[in-house]
Amino acid sequence: MYLVLLGAPGAGKGTQASAIVAKWGWVHVASGDLLRNEVAKGTELGIKAKTYMEKGALVPDALVIEMILKRLVNPDTLKGVMLDGFPRTLTQAEALDKALTEQNKKIDWALYINVPAEILVTRISGRWICSQCQTPYHAVSAPPKTAGICDKCGGKLYQRSDDTEATVRERLKVYFAQTSPLLDYYRKKRNLIEVNGDQDIGKVTEDVIEELGKVQ
Ligand code: AMP
Repeated sequence: MYLVLLGAPGAGKGTQASAIVAKWGWVHVASGDLLRNEVAKGTELGIKAKTYMEKGALVPDALVIEMILKRLVNPDTLKGVMLDGFPRTLTQAEALDKALTEQNKKIDWALYINVPAEILVTRISGRWICSQCQTPYHAVSAPPKTAGICDKCGGKLYQRSDDTEATVRERLKVYFAQTSPLLDYYRKKRNLIEVNGDQDIGKVTEDVIEELGKVQ
């Protein structure tokens, strides 16, 4: 199974990704996490990517495509893959399809978590993430039991440096210009599944699991 998770920044992709992985045991490949890891390690890719990420701009296609295709040859992907944050442009989607076709594989489904634009900024500004297991929290809608500490693993929570209001607005602009056309790309291939992300988190997870359960 190759699943692509689509949705604007703040749509709840990270939260739903945790639930999907817990249910089906697929490997969670999140391009943003991979890039943040490269930045933290100070690799050549990390140094190049950092300037784009700080502005809320997209890292150039060639760099991200190479990083993801390398990640997808890891044997753990045989369990099934849930791609989160990639593809983010038509060029990336086409490169991914080409690479998978060469291996007799394909994207089985694209799952779109639909959240109205006007509530995304508020959602992202209250976001906290576990520094160890990446579980996301929200100061208002999904707070941890103990402030600053992850309920699941006890890790320290942090706020992403690109979750400031100005950068968030830029990331949303980039999303609507460059990433939302992917919805049509997958819709035309008839493998787009849509879930209403503007509901209680638990209800979104129920809907996600129900919809994906239908296509297993
Ligand atoms: P995310 O954690 O998915 O919100 O990604 C954080 C940042 O990493 C984005 O704002 C981009 O700068 C960069 N990034 C992540 N995935 C991609 C991608 N597929 N293409 C280009 N840039 C990306």
